[in-house]
Order: sequence, then C-alpha cells, then structure tokens
Amino acid sequence: MTIATPPALPTFDDVLAAERRLDGHAHCTPVLRSRTADAEFGAELFFKCENFQRMGAFKFRGAFNALARFSDAQRRAGVVAFSSGNHAQAVALAAQILGMPATIVMPQDAPTAKLAATRGYGGQVVLYDRYRDDREAIGRELAERHGLTLIPPYDHADVIAGQGTAALELIDEVGPLDALFVCVGGGGLLAGSALAMRARSPQGKVYGVEPEAGNDGQQAFRSGAIVRIDTPKTIADGAQTQQLGVIPFAIIRRDVTDMLTVSDAQLVDAMRFFAERMKMVVEPTGGLGFAATRAMKADLRRQRVGVIISGGNVDMARFCALVTGDV
Ligand SMILES: *Cc1c(COP(=O)(O)O)cnc(C)c1O
Repeated sequence: MTIATPPALPTFDDVLAAERRLDGHAHCTPVLRSRTADAEFGAELFFKCENFQRMGAFKFRGAFNALARFSDAQRRAGVVAFSSGNHAQAVALAAQILGMPATIVMPQDAPTAKLAATRGYGGQVVLYDRYRDDREAIGRELAERHGLTLIPPYDHADVIAGQGTAALELIDEVGPLDALFVCVGGGGLLAGSALAMRARSPQGKVYGVEPEAGNDGQQAFRSGAIVRIDTPKTIADGAQTQQLGVIPFAIIRRDVTDMLTVSDAQLVDAMRFFAERMKMVVEPTGGLGFAATRAMKADLRRQRVGVIISGGNVDMARFCALVTGDV
C-alpha cells in the first residue's frame, strides 16, 4: 500500500518572498473607498482593485511569482499552461517579462479577444477542441516532449503565495480588518489571502465567495472533503471550476471562516454598482466578494471590511448586455 504524501503548503513567509519578487513588476493596485457603500452598510469598506492589475486580474501575481522561481534550465525550455481565461494571459505576460517562451493551451472557441491578448503577450497558442480533447493531457504531453514546466492556475504553492500578495498589500495599507471577502474558483486567491490575513490581521474573519450554481467549495468546506461538480452555469466565468485544488483546500479548511454563495442576479447588481458609483469595469467573477457583503450587511455594521475585486476582463458587448439587463 502506498500512502500519498500531502503536498507542502505555502506559508506566510512565502507570501512575503513573493511580494519581494513582484516588486517593480506587478502594480501595487489602488484601494478605493465609496461613501455610498459606507453609508449603505454603516461600515468602512476597502476595495482592493485587482481589475487594475497588469493584464487586468490578480492572476499576474501568482504566475509571475511561479515563473520567477524557475531554474536556468527551466527558463530556457519555457512554461506551458492551459486556460481559457486570465491565467493564460498572466502566464504569457510573466514569461515575456522574464524572457522565456510560453505555450498556452486554449479552447478553439475561446473569445478572439482572449486569444489575441495571449498572442499579444508573445504566448504561443495551441488550440484544442473543448468537446473532444483532454486539455490536461495535451498540456502534460507538451511538457514531457519539450521539457516545459507546467504551471497550473491554482493548485501550486508558488501561485498561491503570489496571489496572497494582494491581500497583504491591502492590510499593510489600511490596517487590520474585521472581515475580508474573496472570490473563489479553484481557491488559489482565497488560500493566499487567508495566509496574509492570519498573519497580519489574525482576529479578522475570512470569507470565500462562489457562484450559487457552483458551490463545490462550500460543500467541500462543510463536509471536510473535496467535492467535484459538473461545470456550473453562471456568468462568473472565472469561477467555473469543478473543484477546489488540493493545496488551496488544505489552507482553506484551516484558515477560512466560511464559504458563501451569491446568485448571478446579485453579481449583476454588484457590476452595476461598480460602474455607476465607482466608475469602473469589473468582470462578473470580480463582483463575488462585494455581492456577498451586501447580502450580510446587517452583520457588518461598524466593521472594517476588505473586499478583493479580482479582475476586469470582460468583453464590452457582454458587459453592456449584463448591466442593462439585456441577457
Ligand atoms: C481566476 C479568477 C478567480 C478565481 O481564482 P482562484 O484562484 O481560481 O480561486 C476569480 N476572479 C477572477 C477575475 C479570476 O481570473
């Protein structure tokens, strides 16, 4: 009988090391306030705006931190990633900055804007058929054949440590928080944020937020074992993962207060608030955290509440259709 060794979990020291590596490469994104939100809640809200991060989402942090740790041999051969979303662009941009080749495995029917953005950052795109091919198998085969290093979007210690730098910057800028709300797909951002919160603001609560249709993380959190679901139908395309990663789940179980869910209608309301009141474009997944705070407003009175806005990459036609209620 073989007993699988549990993977090493990243620590807060790894988040601090990631912050040093990202210095001069990632933006220290702004923390925005809204008098309207504060009045609505009777609380102080601090929005960490990763929609203003390079390539438009926090994913640059984890990708750059992981790639910056490659050995010379790994750099020469390059990186491979599979993603239809922000991780693709994050890895392509980080590789370009670090001067290494990047191969990105993307679905044939990925939005042309995302394909173009990935190629624009110098990524070599390999297309696959979403309905016929196994993208992980394609990624693994490319990795083996060409000696490439595969960087997954969330189930990786260096990726998690990098994602944790957003919450670290937030707390170091505004001081300790009573609660922090974080969007969840595979759990990389939440796990990294929880490491930062436990070290810098240990009394504060940490909530992960998922779309209602894809509450695998909530089920896992409550049952104590990873739960796998079918690809959920939701407008939050960055959270259409089928299960939490193994490493994120171990940290989430230990350090997170609870997992919450919100509906697509609540996400649209959040996007509208950001557009009308704060004059910014946030993608549907990026509104998860704020949507959850609004649903538990009464519990947050007089508290200092952090909200991570995870990204702003949304096609303008889709954005307009969503905020005008045309879908
Ligand atoms: C990837 C992504 C998420 C989810 O992050 P995980 O680390 O997979 O939980 C949330 N929002 C945006 C904009 C993303 O790109």
